[in-house]
Amino acid sequence: MKHLVRELPPVHAFKKSEQFIKLIETTGLTESRVITVIQQIISDLRVKLLTGTSPIENPSKENFFNYIITRTEESVHKRQEDFLTPVINGTGTVLHTNLGRARLSDDAIAHVVAIAGSYSNLEYNIDEGKRGSRHDILEELLIEVTGAEAAMVVNNNAAAVYLILRALAKDKEVIVSRGQLVEIGGSFRISSIMEESGANLVEVGTTNKTHLYDYQNAISENTGMLLKVHTSNFKMIGFTESVQTEALVTLKNQHEGLIFYEDLGSGSIYDFRKDGIGEEPVVKEVIQSGVDLVSFSGDKLLGGPQAGIIVGKKELINRLKKHQLARVLRVDKMTFAGLEKTLRDYLTSEEATRKLPTVRDITKTLSEIENQANAFITALTEVDTGYHCYIKESTSQIGGGTMPDVQLPTYVVSLTHATYSENELAEKLRLGTPAIITRIQEEQVMIDFRTISIEEMPELIQAFIVADR
Ligand SMILES: *Cc1c(COP(=O)(O)O)cnc(C)c1O
Repeated sequence: MKHLVRELPPVHAFKKSEQFIKLIETTGLTESRVITVIQQIISDLRVKLLTGTSPIENPSKENFFNYIITRTEESVHKRQEDFLTPVINGTGTVLHTNLGRARLSDDAIAHVVAIAGSYSNLEYNIDEGKRGSRHDILEELLIEVTGAEAAMVVNNNAAAVYLILRALAKDKEVIVSRGQLVEIGGSFRISSIMEESGANLVEVGTTNKTHLYDYQNAISENTGMLLKVHTSNFKMIGFTESVQTEALVTLKNQHEGLIFYEDLGSGSIYDFRKDGIGEEPVVKEVIQSGVDLVSFSGDKLLGGPQAGIIVGKKELINRLKKHQLARVLRVDKMTFAGLEKTLRDYLTSEEATRKLPTVRDITKTLSEIENQANAFITALTEVDTGYHCYIKESTSQIGGGTMPDVQLPTYVVSLTHATYSENELAEKLRLGTPAIITRIQEEQVMIDFRTISIEEMPELIQAFIVADR
């Protein structure tokens, strides 16, 4: 096969071809970028010919040419597709970590777009005409929504935990209940992050029970911190006991210099208990109970962009801001922009808060969900398809390791198809544009309308019609 290598068309042979010219026209790419792709494909083909693994059945100049130009077209189109793409979340899990957690409100999105496209006062004090600090940007707002003395924002809550331990408890003992030594999705373990930070973990109590005296007995002159971790993603039931935040505050106050830090995980600003959902305390209450530092995620119950929010005592926050790591873990202007608008909605009115997509979807009423499910079925039955679908009761989860014991009542549409199995159908929906992510249960594809917005309905229906073909 080696002699065939001589039959390979040279790169310039492609430049005048109809296909090449069309490819440049339709993609807007430069000639040299497309040439680079062609060169790569020729070189791959050469290797294949030399090793006797030709992908072409009847080698000839013409067939080589066609093979190379077809591969080039495929490759160029593939490269032009964005990797990050919107999907429709039909799982009903509101804070789906694999699907990007919270979606932002329209106002937050508009603010991100405006700030991303222009210069901004990210580190500039407009009033005084001189350098400012990005740490100050959201501090006032965070103080207002949480009632804390001071605040700062880092990359995510994992970064917040790390910064706090490293800056305030390095080489000191940090006391944690064994029942709270959690692992949170994607390999974030409290014990590992502690080791990484240089703080010394002191475990107290047992898996199911930790008493106040366990903490009392563990406190020594080397103790720097009491750490309480929200057991976000699991729920212990039965013979269990943990120490109330208030009791730990009292204990901490008996020891000069001891810091009490609570990793809240989700940290909600909106009180979901009012809607009968979960038992999550709002951040303000935790601060009021006297905890020195609290950290939580920006993209969990808060419903903003990925961020780690730290609030608490001014003196401690100042130490964190001055630490070298604060620079390493700092957030971008787009995050600040998204977070700013999200926080403002909490301060504007209850109505504005309820419009935040995360709050809206978690508190979405059964009748709203049922209406959407009905509209979907009606639209689908107007077209001749192989679907068989009906509405049934089910439950949705909040997700993101938040309120794991809460099952929100919902309505789903359950679908089967005349020709496709449930797995085939789910795959067709997933591979369509936009991708639709569903749940499979009892050999049926299920779509939960809690996480589908009214705006997404036409696209969703269209995607189901396309998947039917
Ligand atoms: C989710 C969570 C984290 C990690 O937060 P990210 O914002 O995802 O980095 C840390 N601690 C607890 C208790 C959590 O629930």
